[in-house]
Amino acid sequence: MISQSITDSQNFVKALQTGYLPDLQRTPKGEFHNHSILGTRIERVESWLNNLLPHPPAQMSSLDEMIKYAHDVLYPHTDTLAGFQFTAQSAIDDAVADGVTALEMSLDVRFMSMFQNGPDKFFTFVAHLIDANKAHIDFRPEIGMSKDRFGPEQLRQASLCVQSGIFRSIDLYGNETAQPPDAYREIYSEARKSGLKLKAHAGEFSGPEYVAKTMDILQVDEIQHGIGSATSQRLMRRLHREGIRLNVCPSSNVALGVVRDIAHHPIRTLVDNGVKVTINTDDLMIFGQSVSQEYLLLYQSGVLKAEELDGIRREGLTSL
Ligand SMILES: [Zn+2]
Repeated sequence: MISQSITDSQNFVKALQTGYLPDLQRTPKGEFHNHSILGTRIERVESWLNNLLPHPPAQMSSLDEMIKYAHDVLYPHTDTLAGFQFTAQSAIDDAVADGVTALEMSLDVRFMSMFQNGPDKFFTFVAHLIDANKAHIDFRPEIGMSKDRFGPEQLRQASLCVQSGIFRSIDLYGNETAQPPDAYREIYSEARKSGLKLKAHAGEFSGPEYVAKTMDILQVDEIQHGIGSATSQRLMRRLHREGIRLNVCPSSNVALGVVRDIAHHPIRTLVDNGVKVTINTDDLMIFGQSVSQEYLLLYQSGVLKAEELDGIRREGLTSL
């Protein structure tokens, strides 16, 4: 095993230096920030529909613009029971094709209500995703909740997911400030008691104060994005000290106008300050870059060295 991991590292570093994507894709890697409904390539959706779709703009001005595109173009097809089932499996297929061997992907709790005969059918489907793909990938389902749809029904559904014993982690996304983290304190406490990994989106559009507040209130193990932390030495010291990892998505940050370009991505500052990070796609259907491509972009833009990127890859694989 040890010699295999050395060979993987050598291959990965060499593939970055030569820019040879197939070798990057052959190297095992993890992904920890992926939303299933937008987690597969748009071309796979087009094949499934046998119909071409307008593609998203390469540069957007806000999350709202992205959400509007998804609602207008994608969700009429994918925000259905069949669409949910297709995109979830197809996102796993894309991850496998990219050499992802451990995948934490959120499944929004609202899809539970699309299954007839109650939550059990939803859980059966999720369990099937794990089982049907286990020869190729360690798929770790994540409970997904959106702050844009806060209400008792969402919390009830999330609680059922916790109790199901199938899910490994929980995440909170949508407009960061649509609800205060306090609204989710109880469900996070329940998830923690059941041994789930706790994550939440913060510091994508907001600054370090909001990241710290989310950490304080929800006691998260990891932050999705969290790049707003890079403006605060104090918060980066805390992230380092407490071992809180940021699951970063570089192309998403550029496309949504948070970061000027990849070359100026704050992941450099985070790494320099000892903050643990991983590199992820966020929404492959929107941003079009696989995890391997994200690694290559960061290398070719001079943000991180090949050995640093390999270190990030290896660290992710050792985490549960
Ligand atoms: Zn996200």
